[in-house]
Amino acid sequence: MNELNEIHANKSNWPIILDWVALIAIVALGYIIYSLSQTINILKNDLGVLRNETSSSTQILKQGIASLEADLATTTLTSNELSLQLLDQQNKSETFQSTISDLSGTLGTLEKLSKTDKELLQKYSKVYFLSDNYVPLSLAVLNQKYVFDKTKTIYFHTTALPFLTKMLDQATNDGISMKVVSAYRSFGAQSSLKNDYSVTYGSGSNQFSADQGYSEHQLGTTVDIATEKIKIPLMVDFADSPTYKWLTNNAYKYGFILSYPKDNTNYEYEPWHWRFVGVQLATMLHNNGKNLSDMEQRDIDTYLANIFD
Ligand SMILES: [Zn+2]
Repeated sequence: MNELNEIHANKSNWPIILDWVALIAIVALGYIIYSLSQTINILKNDLGVLRNETSSSTQILKQGIASLEADLATTTLTSNELSLQLLDQQNKSETFQSTISDLSGTLGTLEKLSKTDKELLQKYSKVYFLSDNYVPLSLAVLNQKYVFDKTKTIYFHTTALPFLTKMLDQATNDGISMKVVSAYRSFGAQSSLKNDYSVTYGSGSNQFSADQGYSEHQLGTTVDIATEKIKIPLMVDFADSPTYKWLTNNAYKYGFILSYPKDNTNYEYEPWHWRFVGVQLATMLHNNGKNLSDMEQRDIDTYLANIFD
């Protein structure tokens, strides 16, 4: 009976133990599930927060980028505007500078003109003379080595003198015999010379240099040139000399022109009579095969400001 009871008892204890185990297991499992679900919830929350944060960060970043882009656009615009303004200022400055340089050029020309004797480029003729009272602004003595008659003192326009001596030096260097017979003549000297010619050559003297060239000699910028051994008075056969040929090819480089060329319709031929008109005008006439008498006075006057350049 006891054994039976015990067996019974044992038999009846097992289910109870099993029940407990099962209960404990269920409770534990429930707890684990609860914990897990809690953890999942927390993770879900975290994920949600993270998502929200990421989303708002992205939003902020996007806004930042948009703002930067807007700034960049504004900056580029401003930079472009600045470039344009700079360019505008540069243009204005250049215009201003060129205006100033134009003005100073004009002033320079005016100043030169105001200081340059306008008579120096006047066309004189048998009917249009320089005033009897005219005297050049300044005269200088020509070195005796260039003078034909060593007993004479030759005067020439001071500013034009270096052009004359350069020409004489170059001719000498080229093996050309070249001397100055006459240069500046005052009105008084001119009158007496004319009288001398009249005495020597009678009424034919009116065809001579003394008449047609006297105004130009009174200017101080004109020379009568000869070879060392030529006979005086000067004659047209001077045109056959190498000296004349040299002058024809080179005098313009020093600003000298022939006042009364051969075959001109107005004047007697004077191959010895050379007038200083400045290098620019002399070169233009030489290159175009023209004489001063072919030009209008107003066109000649445009060369006056640069006559001594
Ligand atoms: Zn002369």
